[in-house]
Amino acid sequence: MNKEEIINTLKSDNSDLLIKANNIRKQYVGDEIHLRGLIEFSNICSRTCFYCGLRYENHNINRYRLSKEEIINLATIGKNAGLQTIVLQSGEDNYFNSKTLCQIIEKIKSLDVAVTLSIGEKTYQEYKDYKNAGADRYLLRIETTDKNLYKTLHPNMSFEHRMECLYNLKELGYETGTGCLVGLPNQTIESLADDILFFKKLDADMIGIGPFIPHPGTPLGNSNIDLIKNLNLSIRVMAITRILLKDINIPATTAMESIHPNGRIIALKSGANVIMPNITDELHKKEYEIYPDKNNESLDTLITKIKSINRLIANNKGFRKKIVS
Ligand code: SAH
Repeated sequence: MNKEEIINTLKSDNSDLLIKANNIRKQYVGDEIHLRGLIEFSNICSRTCFYCGLRYENHNINRYRLSKEEIINLATIGKNAGLQTIVLQSGEDNYFNSKTLCQIIEKIKSLDVAVTLSIGEKTYQEYKDYKNAGADRYLLRIETTDKNLYKTLHPNMSFEHRMECLYNLKELGYETGTGCLVGLPNQTIESLADDILFFKKLDADMIGIGPFIPHPGTPLGNSNIDLIKNLNLSIRVMAITRILLKDINIPATTAMESIHPNGRIIALKSGANVIMPNITDELHKKEYEIYPDKNNESLDTLITKIKSINRLIANNKGFRKKIVS
C-alpha cells in the first residue's frame, strides 16, 4: 500500500480491512497470543507531554516509586503465574539510574523471562548498559510523525532526538517497539499514514497503537473527542500496520479496552497477537493514571477472554520470528 491507498483505507469504514488483517495475522504469527506482564514501577515523570496524566505539572496525583525489592517481587509473581515476558514501564524518573536499573534487570532475567523496558528517552550508553544487563526489548512510541504536532505536544523535547533513540535501540540489537496515538487534536489522516509508513521504514519489531483519551489534569483535558471514533480509527491504523508488517508483534492495547469493554477482543480479531496484563499491585496501578478509567483487568479475566475467541496462550517468550522475503 502506498500513502494514498493508506489514506483512502483509513477514511473508509469498510470492514474488509479488518478481515484481511486478521487473515494475515493468522498466516504469519498464528493463533498464539503472547502475554507480557506489565509492571508500572514509577509514575514520577520529569516530562510535560500535553496528553499524559503523569506529566510533571499535574499536581493532582499521588506520586509513587516502587522499591527494587517490590519490582522484583511483582516480576516473580508474574513468572509464577506463567508469564514469560516482564515489561518495566515508568515515567521518566531520574531516580532510577543505570546502576539501579541494571541490578533490577539482572535479577528479573535470572527468573528466565524476557525483559522489555518502556522508560523513555535515554542516552546511547544507558541503552547499552541495560542491554548488557540482559534487557531484550524496548518500547518507545514516536507518538506522532507530524513534526509540528509533535512539537506542540512535547515542550522541551525534540522529535529528532526521539527518532535517534529508536535507531540507537535498533543498532544495539533490541527488539524495538514504537507506535502512535490516534485521534489527537489537530492530527490528520495524512500524518497517520506517515506514521504507518515510518513503522515500516524503521522495520519495527512491535507496534503499539492506542486511541488518545483526554485526561482532565492535562492541557488537552477539555478536548472535544469522540472516543468511539478514536477507537475505530486506531483499530484501522493497527490493521493496516499488520498488513504492511506481517510478522511483527502487535498488542491489543489497554487504551482500546478502556474505551469499549470489548476493545481488546476487537483488536485481537483485527490483527493483534499480544496482550499486556497489568501485574502492578492494586494500589499503584490505580495511581498510574496516564488517562482516566484505565482498564486494569486481571490476568485470569484476560485469559478467559482469549479462550472465548478460540485463540491460544503462547508457551514461549514470543520473540519476533522474522520472515525473510
Ligand atoms: N515514559 C515512557 C512511557 C510512557 S506511558 C515513554 O516515554 O515511553 C506509555 C504510553 O502511553 C505513551 O507512549 C503514550 O502513547 C500513551 N499515553 C499517554 N497518555 C495517553 C492518553 N491520554 N491517552 C492514550 N494514551 C496515552
